[in-house]
Amino acid sequence: MNEPSQSGFFYPNHIVRTCLESLKDILGENGLHVLLKRSGLADWIETPPPADLEKAVDFVRFSSLCAIMDEFYGLQGGHGVARRASWASYGVLREALADIPEVSGWDKVDLPLEKKIKGALVGTARILSGVSDQYTTVEEDDQSFFFIVHQCPVCWGREYDEPLCHPILGALEEATRWASSGLKFEIEEIECIAMGQETCKFRVSKFPVVES
Ligand SMILES: [Zn+2]
Repeated sequence: MNEPSQSGFFYPNHIVRTCLESLKDILGENGLHVLLKRSGLADWIETPPPADLEKAVDFVRFSSLCAIMDEFYGLQGGHGVARRASWASYGVLREALADIPEVSGWDKVDLPLEKKIKGALVGTARILSGVSDQYTTVEEDDQSFFFIVHQCPVCWGREYDEPLCHPILGALEEATRWASSGLKFEIEEIECIAMGQETCKFRVSKFPVVES
């Protein structure tokens, strides 16, 4: 098949496979096939990435998929679809988190909420930096955590005047929901490589949204 250019950075098969499966649930089989054909990824119709954690999906392919969703459904719609797909894909990461002793079971342990959220974010960053080339770090100040993606598979090779990386935002929504047993936190992408910035940087409030 015709690959445009390659990034030389890779995402693990299983995360992409789960993402495709949930896109099929959301868009229907035909909808997914149209997306894959339009984004030059038609080979995934017959042969989706296998369910293993081998780093085999070039960032260019993943960002092509994300770009076509935004093109088809508009930025808002595409972002909504991408976020929902990554809620499901986060399950793969959560299984991997169970193998990290400092983090596994943090959702159930009686710890201060802020510690649990930090554990989930740091654990997720560690897993992603290990199983993929999405090198990710976590920083914090008094109010917020910052989830910082140094090489981004979502906006790889893309340029835009708004942040584009909603699949990662969706994963962070799922991570914080899981670690807090269902609470919601304000999360926003405050820097994006597609906007010419150095990293894709997400701010996660340390305090849950108070539902009225
Ligand atoms: Zn990005």
